[in-house]
Amino acid sequence: MRIDVPAGWIVSGTGVLQNPEEVLTSTARERLSRVLDSDATITIVGADEVGAGRSTAAGDRLVWHFVAEQVNDFAWATAENFVWEATRATIPGKGPVPIHMVYLPGRANRFERAAELTRHALEFYSELWAPYPFPQLTLQDGPSAGMEYPMVINSNQGAADHETAHQWWPMMVGTNETWYGWMDEGFNQYMNILSGADLRGVEPVLDGRGQSYGNISGNEAEPPMMWAANYGGSMYGFQTYSKTPLMLSMLGGVVGDAEVQRAISEYTHAWAFKHPSPWDFVFFMDNALGQDLGWFWYYWLWTTESVDGSIADVTTSGTVTTVTVRQDGQMPSPVVLDILFAPDGPPIRPMSNSEMVDDVTARVTWPVDVWFSGSRTFQARLDFGGRRIERITFDPGCRFPDRNPSDNVWSADGRTDRAACTR
Ligand SMILES: [Zn+2]
Repeated sequence: MRIDVPAGWIVSGTGVLQNPEEVLTSTARERLSRVLDSDATITIVGADEVGAGRSTAAGDRLVWHFVAEQVNDFAWATAENFVWEATRATIPGKGPVPIHMVYLPGRANRFERAAELTRHALEFYSELWAPYPFPQLTLQDGPSAGMEYPMVINSNQGAADHETAHQWWPMMVGTNETWYGWMDEGFNQYMNILSGADLRGVEPVLDGRGQSYGNISGNEAEPPMMWAANYGGSMYGFQTYSKTPLMLSMLGGVVGDAEVQRAISEYTHAWAFKHPSPWDFVFFMDNALGQDLGWFWYYWLWTTESVDGSIADVTTSGTVTTVTVRQDGQMPSPVVLDILFAPDGPPIRPMSNSEMVDDVTARVTWPVDVWFSGSRTFQARLDFGGRRIERITFDPGCRFPDRNPSDNVWSADGRTDRAACTR
């Protein structure tokens, strides 16, 4: 791409500038040569350097030549008074790449944290999914703020994390945002949760999100995720952006969050610079996770149904406690119960499908198949050797969509306070 502009106008864009000696001053070229040496932010062209011979090379007109490989679009910006700053991100397994920022004078406050946030996003998502594949990333200031292109985001610090994430989809994994926004904006919202937590040095909160969908399921304005965004209607934002983290929260409740992220990382590697359909994604995930999740994808992607589980009854006879779990929704789920035992009594003898969460809490799981015969109730048989049970919680991580979670808890003392939603 060759862009012919008046001398003095700075041009940014997709690709790598091929002719800096023709369009930049020697001062700017010297400053650029130091960008990859540290995480410092270096001013390439300052607010007081304006005009031909000062912001750019001297002359009447200059032709800026950019070359880009493996890109599905091209974007550029120009201004006669851009401030140009640059820093670096260090991509795991690859090395440092430059981050460029061009903004209008007087708007520096919108870029104060942009270098830090963009560096974190590039490094974190590279580690999470696959290394950032491009040779640079540029933040462009202007009337468009919050839009993504290959190697370019029209963004200040406000959307830097989210727009940088788009480099993975649709720039690297070429998904169709209009038809299947959940594979693009939806995955983006999920990874933003992980990145935001990492930036703050805390664990990401994925508990509770899946359950919260129970409050939305049933709203007739909600289109299924597989409807094209053009038919999203008043709930376009929820359908395209917000629902996917709820879906992946439940998936984490079925297979574990680390497994979800491992599988999506493998999907990213396998489908880089290709164009996966939703079917490519779900079949890839089933293979990567080693199980047929057709029931899961069907209800989340093609319907607006929810789970709605509850504990209907608890009876004890000898060392055996029978929990009647009821399912009133159309979407099934595994049966996951946390069993809180009394502090004293006979030793707690684990079951083959249980694991200890702490000294007095066991988590016991039955697969989703228990619902496939069509029954609305499942008798969960607990035999832990006779230790008295104080409390039983269905879906302790609050991962499964549920309009009324208050019936998910049974207590020996009759209290039915809600689950704490912690795994
Ligand atoms: Zn977006």
